[in-house]
Amino acid sequence: MELTATGRELLLRGAVALGEELSPTIHLFERLYAQLTEANRQINLTSLREERDIVLKHFLDSLTCLASGLLEGPLEVVDVGTGAGFPGLPLKIARPSLRMYFLEATRKKLRYVEESCALLGLGDTAFVWGRAEQIAHQPEYRARFDRAVIRAVGSMGQISELCLPLLKVGGYLIAQKGPEVARELEGVERGLRPLGGVLEEVKELELPESGDQRRLVIIKKVAATEPRYPRRPEAIARHGLF
Ligand code: SAH
Repeated sequence: MELTATGRELLLRGAVALGEELSPTIHLFERLYAQLTEANRQINLTSLREERDIVLKHFLDSLTCLASGLLEGPLEVVDVGTGAGFPGLPLKIARPSLRMYFLEATRKKLRYVEESCALLGLGDTAFVWGRAEQIAHQPEYRARFDRAVIRAVGSMGQISELCLPLLKVGGYLIAQKGPEVARELEGVERGLRPLGGVLEEVKELELPESGDQRRLVIIKKVAATEPRYPRRPEAIARHGLF
């Protein structure tokens, strides 16, 4: 499907509300929209079917990460559990200088993201197939990244354990959450200690147009993660660090 004029306006207007001028890259979002809706007929990439939902809840929602102010410059960023490329793909379009690593456990989703990047001509991208629990123990990836972004993969305790080992000391985790995240942050200070993280900020924001509440949870890595983390998936699921 082609993005309609209405969808295009919605995206441009919503972006302005986020402080972003998308006119120079709007053609890439149009191509991404066409690619996503086409591929979604073959493989289940997203349950969102309406144009308005895709623009708001995938494209603009991904761009809210920019409000962290931490995604400027030639940084190495890993998008953990990227699925159909969110938030990594819109971020890469809006900030081409980011070196974006898409990490995803499901091979066909990752292949779709790779094809999309090729189609959009996005360079400085890498595609890492596997579970973060294993990837984060590989020397090539452990303590490598400047930033980790993550949306809709697990609770704060779970995703902190997946992402912090991937970050270098001085790096940041930027987690996209909703207003209910406060409950997930009980015991955060103690829980983050073995991972080498500290909670820096919970940034409150609204999705443009819909007014839906969003939170960016920003965690800074201040010390090396203990070598035994991340634990195996079953251990993380059974007993989160917080
Ligand atoms: N971030 C995307 C997808 C969310 S769905 C979005 O917000 O739209 C969660 C995705 O994370 C799925 O594609 C799933 O395969 C992947 N995933 C879940 N746990 C993972 C793990 N431990 N390592 C890598 N990928 C994981």
